[in-house]
Amino acid sequence: MQSFHPPLRTLMGPGPSDVHPRILEAMARPTIGHLDPAFQGMMEELKEGLKALFKTENRLTFPVSAPGSAGMETCFVNLVEEGDTVVVIKNGVFGNRMCENVTRAGGVVVEINVEWGKAPDPAVVDATLSDHPEACILAFVHAETSTGVLADAAALCAIAQKHKCLTIMDAVTSVGGVPVLIDEWGVDAVYTGSQKCLSCAPGLSPVSFSERALERVRSRATPVHSWFMDLSLVMAYWDGQGGRSYHHTAPVNALYGLHESLVMLFEEGLEEAWDRHAAMHKSLAAGLEALGLEFLVAEDIRLPQLNAVKVPEGVDEASIRAYLLDAHNLEIGAGLGPMAGKVWRIGLMGTSACEKNIDLCLTALADALTRHQHPADAAKALAAAKAVRG
Ligand SMILES: *Cc1c(COP(=O)(O)O)cnc(C)c1O
Repeated sequence: MQSFHPPLRTLMGPGPSDVHPRILEAMARPTIGHLDPAFQGMMEELKEGLKALFKTENRLTFPVSAPGSAGMETCFVNLVEEGDTVVVIKNGVFGNRMCENVTRAGGVVVEINVEWGKAPDPAVVDATLSDHPEACILAFVHAETSTGVLADAAALCAIAQKHKCLTIMDAVTSVGGVPVLIDEWGVDAVYTGSQKCLSCAPGLSPVSFSERALERVRSRATPVHSWFMDLSLVMAYWDGQGGRSYHHTAPVNALYGLHESLVMLFEEGLEEAWDRHAAMHKSLAAGLEALGLEFLVAEDIRLPQLNAVKVPEGVDEASIRAYLLDAHNLEIGAGLGPMAGKVWRIGLMGTSACEKNIDLCLTALADALTRHQHPADAAKALAAAKAVRG
């Protein structure tokens, strides 16, 4: 074997996004013990930083030592018990996974199916919860990465509260890219991921639980089926009062990286980061439209950080992506599920949401399209993208 040296890519897919050199440098610092007092001090700062990130006072806010999918599973295995009815809104891939999680935790799913590329309709959610007074949880995806749709989280949470349901919200792609206001909206359980708008290396999933959610975990009749994700055990490490006890070995260097990404985010300002994502999206959208590409999602429900555009008639989408990677070291995403072959997903997440990446993406796409018998004008696209930057 020989050392692995990855090629230098620009990451503009659905995640991971470009990891800033400052974060990589933080991750390369010396490993110390995960119960070392110096490390525990860093953990306390990290928890405070995550509370500010989620805009919450929730005491139990910490990063799960595994990717976003593990944050999802942590929420479901702890809050769902045998026989519980959970209403899940499905408007893409990640809603499907939530249903899987409910069933595996022994719960009963009531699905609200929404056409891919459309946002959940609060009136339909209200009616479904009225029809299912036995439901105790509403679960939804805030930013559906498979389509690029933003859900109206405030409205969905208000409906859940009216029907005395707890809420589980997937904020993997939303956190850091668009406003996420956990306490203001009254979200009970939320999870995100390190590798999307936080621009950190993949492998960590910050989560946060309200007092109501913890009350539900404490009053379970049966133990949580997962030992690793059982909050009552994890809390002894992340929320140890009067000393921490060993639960699992924290991914020490990965946590340095997450800590640094929060330092960088607060240097910029969370609101300023949301504004930057919005501004970069406008610029990219103007350029893509000048290339003749059309968006999948209506403007008012579009995610700035995930741009799903339709593949033009007669163009082989996979060979365009392969060409972009080969010739321009640029990664963009393919469509998933029913969108496979029909859309590209262009991410503008975290560090990747910058003018340099937009210009590269437009130039490279114009080149790729032109070489695939679909002439496109790079100069016109760049001019359109620059014109809206102000
Ligand atoms: C990426 C993503 C996940 C899964 O995160 P992993 O880190 O890949 O496990 C879950 N939900 C949404 C909306 C995502 O975009």
